[in-house]
Amino acid sequence: MRAAVISDIHANLHALEAVLAEVDAERPDAIWCLGDLVGYGPRPNECCAIVRARADLCLVGNHDLVALGSLGLEDFNLEAGLAAAWTRDQLDGDARAQLDSLAPSGSTEQAQLFHASARDPVWEYVLTEEAALATLELTTAPLVLVGHSHVALALALEDGLVRGGTAPDGAEVDLSAARWLLNPGSVGQPRDGDPRAAWLLLDFERRFASFRRVAYPIERTQSEMRGAGLPDALASRLAVGQ
Ligand code: ZN
Repeated sequence: MRAAVISDIHANLHALEAVLAEVDAERPDAIWCLGDLVGYGPRPNECCAIVRARADLCLVGNHDLVALGSLGLEDFNLEAGLAAAWTRDQLDGDARAQLDSLAPSGSTEQAQLFHASARDPVWEYVLTEEAALATLELTTAPLVLVGHSHVALALALEDGLVRGGTAPDGAEVDLSAARWLLNPGSVGQPRDGDPRAAWLLLDFERRFASFRRVAYPIERTQSEMRGAGLPDALASRLAVGQ
């Protein structure tokens, strides 16, 4: 069984299309999405429609929840809040019903999945050893998948200690070597210094995970964001992946 994991698409249609072209070339058995389909970016309805058609499992993220009105704008910084208000106005009925049907955590035969963490599936960033350990201790699956931080990570639990760190393009881990907590990175707004769209390939027969990055036409997404009147800082950051 092989699965492609995507997360934090953030309404970046060109990034999502580039990732799915690479995913399709690998012919995985399933696509799992860890949430934040919308927010920040200019094409929320198209991204929701694609994920609705393609993902076998999908979680909801904090930016999806604020777009639905389930979280308040005051929980977000100025630029994220402006983009969330814009997204609220844009979302069509199908996207709204789709996001409204999702939960921030889930599981499959092979893994436990959270938008953010096991301790707080909506909000907590797993960026420290302490946070990773807490999520690994609250779960039992050999593999735990999280999104939300937009940083691709591979962290292993061995003898009660967390080791590992960021996972650049081409990084591979041996899934049989330890319990793992993996973050695929972000499709639509990477924040680990690599502006290319991120995704993760899991192979449960050969027991490995492979971190992948894909170039996409960043300037097309940026010009759509500026045309929509979204905050310029959100467009600018896409070029640097921060
Ligand atoms: Zn996100």
